[in-house]
Amino acid sequence: MRLMDRPIATSSRLNEVRYDIRGPLSRRARELEAAGETITRLNIGNPGLFGFRVPAHLRQAIADALPASEAYGHQQGLLAAREAIAVVQRAQGSARVDAERVFLGNGVSELIDLSIRAIVNPGDEVLVPAPDYPLWTAATFLNGGTPVHYPCPAAADHLPDPERMAALITPRTRAIVLINPNNPTGAVYPRPILEAIVALAARHGLILLSDEIYDSVLYDDARFVPLAPLAGDVPCISYGGLSKVHLACGYRVGWMTVSGADARVRELLMALDLLASMRLCANVPAQWAIQPALEGPSAIAGLTAPGGRLHEARAALCRRVAASEFLQMVAPRAALYAFPGVDPDRLPGFDDEAFALELLERENVLLVPGSSFNVPYRTHFRVTLLPEPAVIDEVFGRIERTLQAIAER
Ligand code: PLP
Repeated sequence: MRLMDRPIATSSRLNEVRYDIRGPLSRRARELEAAGETITRLNIGNPGLFGFRVPAHLRQAIADALPASEAYGHQQGLLAAREAIAVVQRAQGSARVDAERVFLGNGVSELIDLSIRAIVNPGDEVLVPAPDYPLWTAATFLNGGTPVHYPCPAAADHLPDPERMAALITPRTRAIVLINPNNPTGAVYPRPILEAIVALAARHGLILLSDEIYDSVLYDDARFVPLAPLAGDVPCISYGGLSKVHLACGYRVGWMTVSGADARVRELLMALDLLASMRLCANVPAQWAIQPALEGPSAIAGLTAPGGRLHEARAALCRRVAASEFLQMVAPRAALYAFPGVDPDRLPGFDDEAFALELLERENVLLVPGSSFNVPYRTHFRVTLLPEPAVIDEVFGRIERTLQAIAER
């Protein structure tokens, strides 16, 4: 083959990288839509797609600040926004967090990659929950690390077992990722489990990476316990943002705060500052929404309280799963998703990916197969709680019909 005809090779670093939430099934859904089909999308936790609006005072704050947003900003982000974040962190008990320890990014997504890049050397291991939000596994691979998954199975209410986690730690382990409240399972980790994980990190000299982007999307009596105050001197990066709690995914605003003893995080802060500088700054206009978001009324509380749309959607989903001939589920206690699985005795040999494709082709419903969340089993799937309760009710009829067809084969 002539050199000029040779296909461009892509980086081998991508070999292990997967992010199936927007993967092949989504492409197929777009083809079906282009052919005139209407697809019900339950695959992405994107409030803006389901009629939720960004609170007006956040939109207005950005509009007002546009003239002041034309220059590059500070690499760590607007000072007023970082200070507002630090105030919240200190009120939760992270005494050491000030604006110097806060970094703003174009969504938590950018900061997950940036922080893994700052920490991981080739061959280093990172403990990641399974199921996980798959960006954590992908970013670890992309940066030359090896994700080591600690199971959070349905049989344990999707909670991690610190003793099993301890058995996975090796001399190559650098970090422990927590996703709490969890995507995709909706689990909320109780304080004793968090304390045991902090103790593990302390004993082995690890850094904790705590993805808390759903920290106030809580149902019923679920109580969120932030990790950093428990971690104290143990280095910990906590992640939050506007996408979910403030319904502003499209603004692409996330932040991370670094806690832990000064001497232990000094180099890390310099590394994060270098990487943040290399991308100059996060989108400046959207950063102006942070302070009003944190200081104003909660956008999410009314939605997750009884009678609120997310509360009712979750209730509808739980009712449908309870009535299903084939499904079982640990009810989500938080976040924007449910993670049901089939009863393997009713549907032996079930394949989550084949099911998701069949559901899309037969019933025009798009969801995410459980194996996209880095679990070794193929019995589960993730759906978002964002549609109207009546839509959830109706869609679960279509899901049940497809499961019935599979059972009859
Ligand atoms: N972390 C978790 C657990 C998520 O579910 C998501 C998005 O769905 C993100 C991080 C990324 O959020 P964003 O980049 O919009 O801040």
